Amino acid sequence: MDAVNLLCFDLPGLAAYCEQLGEKKFRATQLFRWIHQKGASDFDQMSDLAKSLREKLAGRAVIQGLDVISEHVSADGTIKWLFDVGAGNAVEAVFIPEDDRGTLCVSSQAGCAVGCRFCSTGHQGFSRNLSTAEIVAQLWFAEHNLRRRQNTTERVISNVVMMGMGEPLQNYDQLVPALKTMLDDHGYGLSRRRVTVSTSGVVPMIDRLREDCPVALAVSLHAPTDPLRDQLVPLNKKYPIEELLAACNRYLDKAPRDFITFEYCMLQEVNDAPEQAQELVKLLKGKVSCKLNLIPFNPFPASGLIRSTNARVQAFAEVLIQAGFVTTVRKTRGDDIDAACGQLAGEVQDRTRAHIRMVRAPVTVAKSQ
Ligand code: SAH
Ligand code: SF4
Repeated sequence: MDAVNLLCFDLPGLAAYCEQLGEKKFRATQLFRWIHQKGASDFDQMSDLAKSLREKLAGRAVIQGLDVISEHVSADGTIKWLFDVGAGNAVEAVFIPEDDRGTLCVSSQAGCAVGCRFCSTGHQGFSRNLSTAEIVAQLWFAEHNLRRRQNTTERVISNVVMMGMGEPLQNYDQLVPALKTMLDDHGYGLSRRRVTVSTSGVVPMIDRLREDCPVALAVSLHAPTDPLRDQLVPLNKKYPIEELLAACNRYLDKAPRDFITFEYCMLQEVNDAPEQAQELVKLLKGKVSCKLNLIPFNPFPASGLIRSTNARVQAFAEVLIQAGFVTTVRKTRGDDIDAACGQLAGEVQDRTRAHIRMVRAPVTVAKSQ
């Protein structure tokens, strides 16, 4: 029988597992703290755990992270890890240090089935869902790796955003225990405001998340009208904008923040005209409590799309700000290591793009929220 990877359990799951082994519930709490707070991977390290339990675990269970294929450190301190998830698939996590926080961007799937026009993960197609253990392993590895490099026992990662590869709400069952582990005081102890699920708009799962684990929600909107959003985010044909906004409003009842963040990827002459900003104002004003986050498009050749100029981004933002919306323009980070949104794990799939990326124009705009 294969050994169980303990990274797959949230705390209640680990307690149930310990019970199966004939152990008391509080043992699970001890074990969980060793794994997530101390980064232990070897049962022998767990000095305050009864020897009998350690012996039971050895042979039956493992604490198994992901193999790191590569690590890239950007000039701005951003770190990108590429992890092997088997069968030629790889996923990425990106650490983004800022003055007041450290954010880890985590992947939920190898590839993605939604197939957004402007997303290189979407262009790769869908390989498979990540397991809870594979989602948690990204945080487990990054947190303890960063503590070692910074020679600290203090927490380094203060925020998690599910904005890596994949559509988290199309991997719901594996996602939720991973989120719960992030939030658990005996795990990573992150507040619900500091864990963000980003979704292209899987309406029924937004409703389920509201009940099961209401963390901060970001919704990838990208267009003010259905005909345009149908083209950019194919899932819109199934869950059009009106239904999506209704789900956002239902979510707000339980959300840890009193707003939804709408993401809007700025595509030159596709969705970035001032008139489209006006349409967006009409769509959202007084309808949903929200903030807007404009993301400069990270180009890749197969998309056939172009990043909006800074002037167009600023003009678009101005319309929204004038209308009273809190609007930020995401600063591109890790540009020199292709760590920005939509670029993730492109290299393993298609190395020939590398030379084109080298000439990508750097963009620096207002600091993100
Ligand atoms: N599937 C989820 C989360 C992963 S994508 C979602 O779509 O929300 C995270 C964010 O990166 C989304 O807002 C997505 O629209 C954006 N994104 C994807 N490709 C991009 C690109 N090439 N340039 C800029 N942003 C991109
Ligand atoms: Fe999938 Fe998000 Fe990329 Fe769309 S933007 S293809 S939902 S990862």
